[in-house]
This record gives sequence, C-alpha cells and structure tokens, in this order.
Amino acid sequence: MRKKGGKEKLNRLANTHVLQLAIILFLLIIIAVVVIVARKVILNDGRAANSETSEISNNDNFEQSQNTTNSTNETGTENETNTTDTVTVSNNLSLLDDWQIRLVNRENPLPDDFTVELENLDASRKFDKRAIEPLKQMIFDMRDQGIKNIWAQSTYRSIEYQKGLYEKSINKYLKQGKSQEEAQKLTDEYINRPGTSEHHLGLAVDFNNVDEGFENTKAYKWLLENASDYGFILRYPKEKEDITGIEYEPWHWRYVGLEHAKKMKEQNLCLEEYVLGSRLV
Ligand SMILES: [Zn+2]
Repeated sequence: MRKKGGKEKLNRLANTHVLQLAIILFLLIIIAVVVIVARKVILNDGRAANSETSEISNNDNFEQSQNTTNSTNETGTENETNTTDTVTVSNNLSLLDDWQIRLVNRENPLPDDFTVELENLDASRKFDKRAIEPLKQMIFDMRDQGIKNIWAQSTYRSIEYQKGLYEKSINKYLKQGKSQEEAQKLTDEYINRPGTSEHHLGLAVDFNNVDEGFENTKAYKWLLENASDYGFILRYPKEKEDITGIEYEPWHWRYVGLEHAKKMKEQNLCLEEYVLGSRLV
C-alpha cells in the first residue's frame, strides 16, 4: 500500500512537471506570435511610407537599403529574410510593373503569349511602338553629328522565331549523336532559350555587325555618352557580367525610358540591380 501511495505521489509530481513544461511552452508560443505580428506591423508601416515617397526619396531608400544589405553581406550570409531586403523588394514593386524596365532573362522568361504593339523601323525590322521615336531620333542625331556608320541590325524577335532557332540547334547536336542534355547545354551557350531574350520585348537593339569590334567605334563612344538622353542603356556592361549573367555586349542597347536611363547611368546600375535592388548584389 505504501509503495502504491509513493508511486501515485511520483505520478502526481511528474504530472505537475509536465503541466509546468506545457505552460512554459505555451508562453513561448505567445511571445513568438507577438514578435511576428509586431514585425509585420512595422514592415507594413514602412511600405505605406514608401508608396508615398517621391522619385528622389525612392531613390534614397534604394541606395540606403543597398548599403545596409551590402554591409550585412560582408559580415554574414543569413540575411535572406532580413527586414531591409523585404522593404527593398516592396520598394521596387512599382518598378516591376513598368513596361519600360521589364526584366527578361533566364530567371524571368516571358510567357509564350506575350504580345507587344510594334511599328516598323524599316522594311524588316520592328520596335515597340512606344519607344520607336527615341530610337529613330537617336540614330538620326548620331548621323547628323557625323557618325554615318551606324545602323540597327537586330531589333524585335518573336518568341516563335527564337523557338525555331533553339530547336534547330538542339536537333543539330542530336544528329551528331549528343544526348538531349548535352545538346541543350551546348545550345544554351550561344542561343537564348525562347522567352528569355529581351529582343522579344521590342525594346532592344543590336547595332552594326553585332560584334565586339563595335566597342572601338565612334558610335559606341557617342552612345556611352548620349544614349541615356534618349532613354537607352548599355544592357550588358563588362563590369556587370556576374550580375546580368551575360557576357559583355557593346552592341546591345535597351530602351528603359528617359528617367530610368538617367538614374541607372548616374548610379552605375545595370537593369537587374536597378529593378531587383540589393537582392542580387
Ligand atoms: Zn541583342
């Protein structure tokens, strides 16, 4: 009997411990919930404030958040969900909606049904209707200022056309006895997958012979100096290869609109950095 009584006491004691643990656990959960809710409220406040900011302060926010994240990156890598990052992304959401700076690359392909209103630059070349005037004016002014040797070689390309190019290359390698995977890898080295070329947008132009020699021309020098005045940027600069994922292309220029082109030039940002902010840096 005594033994049994002792056992019951022990059981009661154990139950009390379990109860205490449960209470502590419950309190911890409550604290966690409170912390998460508080953080959300703070972030939302930040968003509301950001949406009201003018262009200039928007820019300031962008720079600030970039700096903050850069310094965090130097000390550690654990800032994936960092507050600054979240604010930066929401800060740039308005940028993502802007057709002028639509980002198209391997990570951001266009949907198959993407369409754009085009206008003819000449008999065979087309450009986005909303951006063709600045392109025409830019070429006109270059010629007017003595740079006669300039022409738009490649402008709009349809996704269908790119599909044809891509598949033709895959088939060529398959016929040579390569595996599907090898054929794809070899093709990826020099042909953009359909949907991932910004030429689909009708906002990109390749000048002259589409080769590196363009870098040594008067036209290239002129474009570096003046293209932003027409809303164009050098899309794949040499020092941004790691960020764009594309090798330096002196011949490839992209329309992003006057305002964005000027900001990007002033701050030395490529399109990925400008649109996505510090997430990529
Ligand atoms: Zn190009």
